[in-house]
Amino acid sequence: MTRHNVAVIVGAGFAGLYMLHKLRESGVRARLIEAGGDVGGAWYWNRYPGLRCDVESLDYQFQFSDDLEAGWNWPERYSEGPVIRKYFAYVADRLDLRRDISFNTRVDSAAFDEAANLWRIGTDQGETIDASWFILAVGPLTTVNTPQFEGMESFRGRILHTARWPEEEVDFAGRRVAVIGTGSSGIQCTPVIAGQAAELTVFQRTPAFSLPSANRAVTPEEQAAAHARFPADRDYRYASAGGMVLSPNAQSALEVTDEEREAEFERRWTSGGFGFLLSYRDLLTSAEANAVAVNFVKRKIRAKVNDPYTAAALTRQDYPLGAKRPCIDSGFYETFNLPHVKLVDAMEAPIERFCSEGIVAGGTTYPVDDIVLATGFDAVTGAVLKIRIAGRGGLTMNEAWKEGPHTYLGLAVAGFPNMLILDGAQSPSVIVNAPIVIEQQVRWVDRLIEHVRTNGIARFEATEQAQADWVRHVGEIAQYTLYPKADSWAMGANIPGKPRVMLFYLAGLEAYGKHCADCAGNDYHGFKMERAAELAGA
Ligand code: FAD
Ligand code: NAP
Repeated sequence: MTRHNVAVIVGAGFAGLYMLHKLRESGVRARLIEAGGDVGGAWYWNRYPGLRCDVESLDYQFQFSDDLEAGWNWPERYSEGPVIRKYFAYVADRLDLRRDISFNTRVDSAAFDEAANLWRIGTDQGETIDASWFILAVGPLTTVNTPQFEGMESFRGRILHTARWPEEEVDFAGRRVAVIGTGSSGIQCTPVIAGQAAELTVFQRTPAFSLPSANRAVTPEEQAAAHARFPADRDYRYASAGGMVLSPNAQSALEVTDEEREAEFERRWTSGGFGFLLSYRDLLTSAEANAVAVNFVKRKIRAKVNDPYTAAALTRQDYPLGAKRPCIDSGFYETFNLPHVKLVDAMEAPIERFCSEGIVAGGTTYPVDDIVLATGFDAVTGAVLKIRIAGRGGLTMNEAWKEGPHTYLGLAVAGFPNMLILDGAQSPSVIVNAPIVIEQQVRWVDRLIEHVRTNGIARFEATEQAQADWVRHVGEIAQYTLYPKADSWAMGANIPGKPRVMLFYLAGLEAYGKHCADCAGNDYHGFKMERAAELAGA
């Protein structure tokens, strides 16, 4: 039986890059395969105008290195996509990561060779790479959802998807543009495209709840102060539920007077960002508390939009605030007050088809030159299932996950030995500030690999029992939350035929970290560990 002790990592976003760095530090040979042309992951592919992070830049960055943090300054509270891409280049340069990365290479198959105890990983470049450990860092929001509208091929203009935006700048000057979709991507690109186009028509099916960003420049003094308190802030992020430095209010929304509540909502709304969701401890758990917050948010939206029909369509949400990830916008609602911008309520007037000159919805033809699809992703499971993965006994991931993802701790899958998944299904992933949970998982995986190397363990695999218990636990936690009350990509509801199950572990970072630490601390409870001699005798 061959023992190579090489790890293959797929994906060069936050997860894959830190995994590569960490394994190198531990003396493990690792190679990273990336489909894109450079580092950044989601921030490499998403280049639409208006792209920013929606978690504050001071939170949304690697935490593990004082040196990296000290050497980088963020220009804005919510930095733009190109700045975040530069940040990834800075990290890759500082850590000298690129020498172990194969770019423009897609992993399209991976099969576990039981006799050799190796993963045989196939790429679209015709290469087969052998690996002892196969680590998927393929991202939760990677596989693009492009709805197939009737007549799409007959449209004479350009069709662009926000998540596959061209590298060169797209000029909308003098053009009539349609945006389909009002999730985070649609909400971010709408004001910027409106600033360039001759006409903009936004097709909204389900209205989102969007909170104002109150974005602004980070002053040199603020950045210097953030550097100085970084170790303390990092500890706070690591120990928090959401991985951000925010101040949750411990009171109930129902135990204060109407005036006090209005003042608190107002204060947090004006400060911007996700802090509004933490106005009261029960905003996301009590239907009554949630309803008062919804009322406040809808009032705020109506106050921003002049046209009553448009304001009504933008406030037609029939699900609780926080039942899907809210958006954070910079001027989205105000854009509809511009004379050349209109909203089409695609719930009332559904998109029927594309035609050569534009979009037909509710019996009306909307002539346009460009159509921007801001239609999201086949999230979380999409990029994993796109790779033909065959585990022990030829079990495929598509079979293993046909009723939705089944994992142990979001990290391992029964039947797929020596394979690990980062930032994936049934972990907190993007429900929290993603880089924080990614760092926690990377360190856990690094210690697991250290454990198997030092103990002569040739094969580790999650047990069916541990996996079943985790799947049940993930489902139970979801039932305590508002998420099942809305159709969203987090429930798999945006893709026809996809199982409708909660894709994330929703109890927060802290609880998740404890489960992972318990597993490691109890001799990797829930994993079957086999030494080479045991495999040879099998
Ligand atoms: P990714 O960054 O998605 O990287 C995965 C990489 O794997 C990609 O580069 C992809 O090309 C590669 N890959 C996938 N399959 C293969 C294959 N078969 N072969 C080779 N390579 C492959 N989260 C937040 O917490 N805050 C935010 O503000 C925020 N903003 C976002 C904005 C946008 C537009 C999007 C799409 C997501 C945003 N997210 C945000 C979520 C984001 O997905 C995570 O924050 C984080 O970037 C995920 O990192 P990752 O390393 O897990 O995956
Ligand atoms: P999304 O939230 O899934 O939104 C997709 C939008 O397209 C929805 O409004 C959806 O309407 C609409 N849509 C899809 N198919 C349609 C169809 N056939 N006809 C009409 N409308 C259709 O996708 P996203 O906006 O790309 O965001 C996904 C996630 O990525 C976010 O939740 C966030 O986590 C991350 N992200 C973050 C940022 C940021 O601010 N930093 C920016 C972009 C993305 P329905 O809801 O009715 O299906």
